[in-house]
This record gives sequence, C-alpha cells and structure tokens, in this order.
Amino acid sequence: MVERGERIQELARRIAARIDDLALIDALDTGSPLGAMRASGAKGAQQLGLNGAVGIELHGSTIPATATGWHLTKHEPFGVVGAIAAYNHPTLFTCQKIGAALVAGNTVVLKPSEQASISAVAIAALSADLLPPGVLNVVPGGRDAGEALVAHPAVERIAFTGSVPSGLAVQRTAMASGRIKHVTLELGGKNPMLVLADVDTDVAAAAVVKGMNFTRVQGQSCGSTSRVLLHESIADHVVERVVRTVEALRLGLPDDPSTQMGSLVSREHQQRVLGMIDRAVADGATVVSGGGQPDRSLGLDDGAFVAPTVLTDVRSDSHIAQTEVFGPVLSVLRWTDLDEAIAVANSVEYGLTASVWTSDIDAALSTADRLDAGYVWINDVETRFSGVPFGGWKQSGIGTEQALLHEIESYTRVKSINIAVGALSR
Ligand code: NAD
Repeated sequence: MVERGERIQELARRIAARIDDLALIDALDTGSPLGAMRASGAKGAQQLGLNGAVGIELHGSTIPATATGWHLTKHEPFGVVGAIAAYNHPTLFTCQKIGAALVAGNTVVLKPSEQASISAVAIAALSADLLPPGVLNVVPGGRDAGEALVAHPAVERIAFTGSVPSGLAVQRTAMASGRIKHVTLELGGKNPMLVLADVDTDVAAAAVVKGMNFTRVQGQSCGSTSRVLLHESIADHVVERVVRTVEALRLGLPDDPSTQMGSLVSREHQQRVLGMIDRAVADGATVVSGGGQPDRSLGLDDGAFVAPTVLTDVRSDSHIAQTEVFGPVLSVLRWTDLDEAIAVANSVEYGLTASVWTSDIDAALSTADRLDAGYVWINDVETRFSGVPFGGWKQSGIGTEQALLHEIESYTRVKSINIAVGALSR
C-alpha cells in the first residue's frame, strides 16, 4: 500500500511537471482558455497526489460482536474499474477518475471523452514505467466504447461523469448486461443561486458571474449556478452589474493568454445552445446581453463561440429554467417570498449544487437545509474543496467524489471475517 501510494504521488508530480503541455492539449481540444485548463489540470494533479498520500489510511475495523470471537472487516478492491469521463476538464477528470480507484488496489480502464481524449493518453504514457502493465489503461472512443466497457463482465464497478441521459443509458446497459454492477454517476445540473435582499449587491453580482463560469469554461461546468434567483429589491442593480461585467469579457482563441472566454467544444453544441436561447425567447424571456454568436468584428466566426448571455423575465416552468444548457447562458428570476423562491429553486429534476447569499446566518442555514442539492455554498460559489464530498441528488447522480478516504472506500468491497477463537481446542 505504501509503495502504491508513492507511485500515485509520483504520477501526480509528473503530471504537475508537464501541466503546461497538458493544458495546451486540453485548451486546443475543448476551446477553453489555456489558463483555465492549466488551473484545473493542476488541481487534478494535486487531488491525485492527495489520494496517493491518503491511501495508507484505508483500513477495516474490528467489531466486538461476541465475547470470544474476533470479527473484522477488510476493504478489498473490485478488480477492474471502468471509468468514463466528460469533456470539460480533461486532465482534471483523468486524475479524479483514476486516483481513488488505483489507490484502492483496482486496475482502471478509462474511457475519456471522444471530444478531448489526448491528455488522458499522455497521462497514461507518463505512468508507463511507473505502474505495472495493465494497471492503468486508456481506451479512447465514443458511446460504443463506453457501452462496451459498462457491459463487460469483468467490470463490476463503473464510475461515470456525463449528462443525465448518458447516465441513464449507463444504468440501462449495466442492467441489460445481466450482471450486478456498482455504478456511480456524476451528472448534470441546473443549479440555483438564491440571493436575499440583505447582501452587498456588487459582491453578489461578481459571484453571479463567477458561478456561471462564463470565463474558464464558457458555462460548461456541471456546477454552474445557471439559475439566479434575485430578491426583487436588488434585482435591477445586480443584473445591471452582471451585464456590465460580462460585456467587458475578452472572447478569443483558447491558446491566446489574454482570452477570458473561449469557444464551446463543438459547432454541434454551439447550435444546441443557440437553439435553447431562441426557445427561451419564444417562451417569453428577454435577452439583456448576448443572445447569439459574438460580434463579427472579433473575427471568431470560424469557432463555436457563443456570446455571454443573460436572460431576464424567465418563467420558472419554462424549458430554459428547467434544462441544463451547459453553455454561457444565465437565467435570472425574481422573487419576493423566500418560501416561494426555495420552491422554485427545488422545482427542477436536478439537484447538484446550490448557492445562498445573505448576511443573516439563520436564513442562510435554514435555506441551505431546505435546498435539494448535494453541494451547497453559503456566500460562496463554484469553489470545490478537496476532502469535501461532491455529488448530486435527484437526477444529478449517485455517489460522491473528491472526499479522499471516503471516495477510496467506494472503490472497495467490504469483506467481514469472523474468527471462532478456541473452536478447535474445545
Ligand atoms: P456526455 O454524456 O455526452 O458524455 C460523457 C461521456 O459518456 C463521454 O465519454 C461519452 O463518450 C460517454 N457516453 C455517452 N453515451 C454513453 C453511453 N450510452 N454509455 C457509456 N458511455 C457513454 O457528456 P459531455 O457532453 O461529455 O459532458 C457534459 C455533461 O456532463 C453535462 O451534463 C455536465 O453537467 C456533466 N458533467 C457532470 C460532472 C459532475 O461532476 N457531476 C462533471 C462534468 C460534467
């Protein structure tokens, strides 16, 4: 276990040492700015190293179930873990998908996203002289490769990150395989940010922009707070500040260091996002910023760019308020009654993240309690903390990641051993 942990930590150091190369690969693959890919890749290397360091803490327990017997548990690996990743943070997801599973003693077959698979292959190459042959395997491919991995009889534990429809498909494939499989799912979100009247509106406006992830990944983050619920009394001011901020963002090519907001991952996705904006307008929403491709004068027509978009007059039951866009599109809703606002926040099928902003500690804690989400911030947004479990409720998933020992345990099966002391001499 010590040696395994040390080798994982060494892999983390190698990834950190090559982070500029990996970030460039990820930026060119995804269209996200280089600096953002460097930051998330570095976080991935850090988490991989932490998993390597914490692995030694994996242990079972002894249980005083009888007076004379010994009763103990062991955590044993599943064997082969099948891991499938989304495209938005390629290096980070490779690190997250392999760390806990390998530390627990499994081998891993990782299928990265077909839209951003090169850094995963590069990371496997970095591990080649470090891990025994067959321990870390990267198999690029699309849906077919994912389905084959999920259905394979040797793969009993599956860790999936992607959209809700793909997560459902993974569960169907697992069931159709005729075998019992342990499946964890990290899926999408339509996450609410609930802003009460007693906040500093400039601070709140900055948080709205940060939470939507306009910069970094052009809104393409599962945790983006894409539904902002503003108290009526502060709504105009916050929206005005948000619009002013997003209209000043520098859109550009992913490998240009001055770029704050890059391109979406593909033209197909760009068209899907633009179609959702059109549908929102048809449903009564007002575009107060963006709403289409960036201005032609920027010379970005060849990319899959979408201007940062802010929508107001969004009805809580409309398609745009109920469905993940996974693009730079913020929906603003207004409220006057907190109970009704919480009901609106909870009115979607998803339950990944939520954010509450208020200087009233009682209101903050009771609102956090009432939100149906697996990861809640109070007076914060977007930040993830290593060691704190991240995972969705409702249709946003099953299980959690990033909780170090807790996550490592999720890649093990518990075996209970009962020893009848003295039985042979009775
Ligand atoms: P996607 O669902 O299209 O693809 C994700 C992965 O699943 C890819 O590797 C893809 O090839 C594979 N896949 C697709 N269909 C499959 C099937 N039937 N069987 C097996 N594998 C299959 O998602 P995407 O477009 O890459 O990523 C965006 C989605 O991922 C968004 O919904 C986003 O919210 C979600 N996401 C969630 C988290 C989280 O931690 N909760 C993190 C990142 C992204």
